[in-house]
Amino acid sequence: MPSHFEEGALVGVLTTQPLDRLLDYKAPEGGCFVGAFVEVPLGPRKVLGVVWGPGRGDFDISKIRSVIRVLDAAPMLDEMRQFLGRVADYTLTPMPAMLRLATRSPGLGDPPSMRKVYRLGHAEPDRMTDARRRVLEVLSEYGGLSFTLGELAETAGVTSSVVKGLVKQGAVSEEESPRDLPYPRLDPELPGKELTGDQAAGAEVLGAAIRSGAYGTTLLKGVTGSGKTEVYLEAVAECLRKGRQALVLLPEIALTAEFLKRVEARFGAMPTEWHSGVTMTERRRAWKMVGEGGAQLVVGARSALFLPFRDLGLIVIDEEHDTSYKQEDGVLYNARDMAVLRASIASAQVVLASATPSLESWVNAESGKYSRLELKSRFGASELPDMSAIDMRDEDLPSSSWVSPSLQAAVRERLEAGEQSLLFLNRRGYAPVTICRACGHQIACDHCDARMVEHRFLKRLVCHQCGETKPMPEVCPSCEVEGKLAPVGPGVERLHEEAAALFPDARIAVLSSDLFGSARALKAKVEEIASGGADIVIGTQLVAKGHNFPLLTLVGVIDADLGLQGSDLRAAERTFQLMRQVAGRAGRAERAGLALLQTFQPEHPVIRAILSGDEEGFWRAEAAERKAAGVPPYGRMAGIVISSPEAQQAFDIGGALARADGPLRRIGAQVFGPAPAPIARIRGRHRVRLLVKAEKTAPLQAALAQWVAQVRLPANLRLSIDIDPQNF
Ligand code: ADP
Ligand code: ZN
Repeated sequence: MPSHFEEGALVGVLTTQPLDRLLDYKAPEGGCFVGAFVEVPLGPRKVLGVVWGPGRGDFDISKIRSVIRVLDAAPMLDEMRQFLGRVADYTLTPMPAMLRLATRSPGLGDPPSMRKVYRLGHAEPDRMTDARRRVLEVLSEYGGLSFTLGELAETAGVTSSVVKGLVKQGAVSEEESPRDLPYPRLDPELPGKELTGDQAAGAEVLGAAIRSGAYGTTLLKGVTGSGKTEVYLEAVAECLRKGRQALVLLPEIALTAEFLKRVEARFGAMPTEWHSGVTMTERRRAWKMVGEGGAQLVVGARSALFLPFRDLGLIVIDEEHDTSYKQEDGVLYNARDMAVLRASIASAQVVLASATPSLESWVNAESGKYSRLELKSRFGASELPDMSAIDMRDEDLPSSSWVSPSLQAAVRERLEAGEQSLLFLNRRGYAPVTICRACGHQIACDHCDARMVEHRFLKRLVCHQCGETKPMPEVCPSCEVEGKLAPVGPGVERLHEEAAALFPDARIAVLSSDLFGSARALKAKVEEIASGGADIVIGTQLVAKGHNFPLLTLVGVIDADLGLQGSDLRAAERTFQLMRQVAGRAGRAERAGLALLQTFQPEHPVIRAILSGDEEGFWRAEAAERKAAGVPPYGRMAGIVISSPEAQQAFDIGGALARADGPLRRIGAQVFGPAPAPIARIRGRHRVRLLVKAEKTAPLQAALAQWVAQVRLPANLRLSIDIDPQNF
């Protein structure tokens, strides 16, 4: 295939428009290369596209229009085009949607130009208003970042005239700045921490793998605090030394504050950030710099995997077991698995880091498909916390209380010693259920199959499925009796109330995602807690993820049984991981920690495995169960979700599909359902799911494509295919 097309030659262009084929255009003046980002006419519009190959020329050549212009962006490399194609095939996603995923950058291809940017000035404004204060706060919070007028006004929630007023007074400075400044260089030769024997050995193995220039995946397992981050930062250093780019994926943007500082300390400059909290201007700059190679290290959320790296040598997936790596709408992909795919195309190394690997990765490491490194001990004197169960059947607890006397005593000891305690409850809001004590009615969402959760902080009822909120009613919506609505069960807000009553002199902080307006506010809170700004931390799963709280020596798990119920095959795995992660928060520095699990079923195998620390035993038992059931990672699965405003219609189409299972039967696959999807109704749409199970080696995608193509879908019906669903 030619890689350059002379002016007038026919080229096939992939656009972001939902069309099922490449469009033919004539190459513009000066010609164009394969992979070039171009602007092409489509009807009356101009749309973005990528030159994908030669045109087909299968219709009237005189009607074919010309590419308008080649954009000023690094061309999409062959490697990237291959990657997008493979992800499209694997997830059964049309290519235009893949291209949209890979070009999420505003102003792609705009020429560099000067623009006005705004920073904190030196003067004080003559008069302070709320709006002015917000502008100044935004500028000081973002430190060195500069904003355009629109971005600043939007972020602060003010009109641009407020900003202009501050500029006049010198409180905000306005300057001309070229777009897309290069990033400061990261220096891998700066000294890292002195590694322990285990850590150094691990870093050496990863370093050698990177020097080999070949593909490989390594599972880096080690308890929280064992120094996995230190080890993979050395792998990053080696990658940078080789002049290749590195990508570190993190599950929560909330993690990055602490993390970015560590990276800066190691390499002398900030890495490139990529996540939903990054401003448009910075996104544009990041996208461009990644393509040109100027961004040496990207730290980001899962979508960073689709950035146009010029020469990617290493992908680290931190907390690789985290479920947020699975994208659950739009293109349904698992960033962990797609990272392995991308690395194999790019001859790069993958490091999967976790204290509690996913069963998939554990199995791949056992079978030798992945290499395995293990850090056995925690860094420094700190040991893994002691863990024990509090048998709730033996505890004397009044109703509507959740902190058992035994746990209370342990917290008191910590308070006296000036140490921190964490009370963990994976439930946001005040109470999970609001019930009418007159008629028994439970308040549910009008649009979903879910109960409304009371949030006292917001003073509203919230649906955790669709986000719908409404004020707390005065009278029961069902029987209309007044004053009988009562909360049932605890959420973190209610636990906070109880803790405040039990420990009136303690400083209590609540960490729950909905209590923070922004990732920045959350970061600030985490830092405050880490430096001793609270005695008791009450948190949801947000706290389970990688934050360092050096003063924390006690973790109390309020409801260790939560998550063990339910039909989800992965429930045991998730509970095991979550409990181990949470327990790992205790005793990170020089102090030993204690984790207490409140449970009504201390003899449950999962609780026993957590307490005894017999991880290998737990994984082996889980793996055996999955193998017997023929489910991932031993078999293949796909979920087909059909949604419609009409439940009956969704079931009818689902039933028709289930009956037309010829293409599946031909590959030996089975179809189950239709059944209500795990979330049966979202935003007023009824959801029905079919599950397809096949042997590991069966050509599942091709059969699925053939299968769903047989059924004509009414316009108001939506069908999505989820390869490797999270819940089965
Ligand atoms: P993990 O990623 O396994 O949770 P970290 O790399 O975050 O562990 O290490 C936990 C803490 O111990 C961090 O504060 C880290 O800086 C510190 N640490 C780990 N290894 C070393 C080392 N070799 N020298 C100094 N500090 C270390
Ligand atoms: Zn809802």
